[in-house]
Amino acid sequence: MTDLMDKKALVTGGTRGIGKAIVEELAANGCSVVFTYQSSDDAAKAIQDEHAAAGRKVLAFKADAASFEDAQKAIDFTLQNLGGCDILVNNAGINRDKFLMMMKESDFTEVIDANLKSVFNYTKAALKPMMSNRFGRIINITSVVGLTGNAGQANYAASKAGMIGFTKSVAKEMAARNITCNAIAPGFIRTDMTDKLKDEIKDAILSHIPLKVFGEPGHIAKTVVFLASPAADYITGQVIAVDGGMTM
Ligand code: NAP
Repeated sequence: MTDLMDKKALVTGGTRGIGKAIVEELAANGCSVVFTYQSSDDAAKAIQDEHAAAGRKVLAFKADAASFEDAQKAIDFTLQNLGGCDILVNNAGINRDKFLMMMKESDFTEVIDANLKSVFNYTKAALKPMMSNRFGRIINITSVVGLTGNAGQANYAASKAGMIGFTKSVAKEMAARNITCNAIAPGFIRTDMTDKLKDEIKDAILSHIPLKVFGEPGHIAKTVVFLASPAADYITGQVIAVDGGMTM
């Protein structure tokens, strides 16, 4: 038995990196899980099959996080197949890094839609079942860049800072209903998103991490499990930086 036994979770962007680790950690702790993705059909099916072979209920659902209609469909799929939605993890995200002078309007709107509007889409759709159940744990994966800003990431930093304001507002609106809403701000975590950075940029980032190592997706996934568990019942509206001390 674990603290999350029989809880039902929906995770956006579960085919790779941090989202994939969150799905694994929630399932390992007894949750049944639906995860969404945008394009990686083969990876989604492989993850679903691996979990099924291990006797875990983990289902993939293709849905563009930026689409309001897709979000409602993903929640409906979760309710139909898992029988509820106790935990929502808004993880799906993209970056289109460029200095502002080079940034096109589409670079800005695509990032805002995938990273920030997606959080509105899914949270709004999940609130109804959470409110009728008088229980909900909403966990938003923002970024340290949303706290500090970063040259070359004005679009991404704006989306991640927006998530923080959204998290605190939802926490205030929903506290009386026993629905908590918190954010996790990862620092540099080793995934496809960060693998594409040049070595000199990685070295420069590493020199600013007091713990002197990059983070792993599992570090974020374990923090999600903590925030979803009874140990965090009295925590809402917070942003937890999981960054090796980078932003302290
Ligand atoms: P990643 O390796 O690039 O994986 C992104 C995941 O999101 C994939 O499963 C992808 O699905 C999905 N996705 C992207 N756009 C989507 C959309 N429009 N609709 C549905 N799914 C979509 O990214 P990651 O590094 O694990 O990052 C996960 C989250 O953590 C993001 O929000 C990111 O901003 C945040 N974060 C990451 C770091 C880091 O150092 N890696 C640091 C701070 C914050 P497909 O496979 O189908 O494309």
